[in-house]
Amino acid sequence: MLPAGENLNFVDTHMHTNLSNDADKRITIDAYCVKAAKVGFNAIAITEHIEMNAWEKDGFVNTFEKSMTANTKAKEKYPFLISGIEMGQATQNIADAEKVLQDKRLDFVIGSIHELPGREDFAFLNFHNVDVNLLLRENFLEILRLCKWGKFDVLGHLTYVLRYMSKAGITVDLRPYNDIIAEAFKTIIAKGKGIEINVSGYRADYGKTFPTLKYVKLFKDLGGDVITVGSDSHAMHNFDRAIRSDLKKGAQIALDAGFQYYTVFREHKPTKVKIET
Ligand SMILES: [Zn+2]
Ligand SMILES: [Zn+2]
Repeated sequence: MLPAGENLNFVDTHMHTNLSNDADKRITIDAYCVKAAKVGFNAIAITEHIEMNAWEKDGFVNTFEKSMTANTKAKEKYPFLISGIEMGQATQNIADAEKVLQDKRLDFVIGSIHELPGREDFAFLNFHNVDVNLLLRENFLEILRLCKWGKFDVLGHLTYVLRYMSKAGITVDLRPYNDIIAEAFKTIIAKGKGIEINVSGYRADYGKTFPTLKYVKLFKDLGGDVITVGSDSHAMHNFDRAIRSDLKKGAQIALDAGFQYYTVFREHKPTKVKIET
């Protein structure tokens, strides 16, 4: 283990604890922070799932409150900690999403799409029973809608749906959606927002980042300046693996796309951290 301070350009701004219902029941903020302090992280962000389409129905009101209370307390002990959320489906409940965003305890918001209106979460969809091309078009149009709203700090895992398509043995060509993706990028670039390189794909059948270098480079070439890298850890072994390899590979993708700095948000204000591998 490296002594504290030796890796101060390490960041990971996408992590779930046991407050997220799909995470390991044993994983806590403290466990991540103790590990991050040992490795010498510049910043880590706890970003629990807050699914706005199920805000009241599935208890996300409570999850949000518990998370903000726990993050705020932990920040006193761990100054590198960022209090974030992964806000899912803001487009499906904009009124509550905008109320959540007013909370002053919130430093950082990842805007994600995990399911489409009237459809199940991608994790539970049977891709052999749907028109995959239609689904992909709907997905990127929904992401474009999210970007037009644009009140998050970074767009999470642009190509997340491919995690489950790949698991179902379906390979796809994203080129038909490049125009929609480019429009989504231009929309958030104009608002000074960023995208995330989500390295959780290395742990899945997909084996690549969400999105891949090609799209990170497109974002950069269109004038994008704000990039984050996140492990999307749901357990300590995910974070361990991220520290060993995945975050470094993510950093390399950012560098290959032409970025020299990560952006880290506190109180939604961006600061830059030099990317090193
Ligand atoms: Zn997600
Ligand atoms: Zn996540």
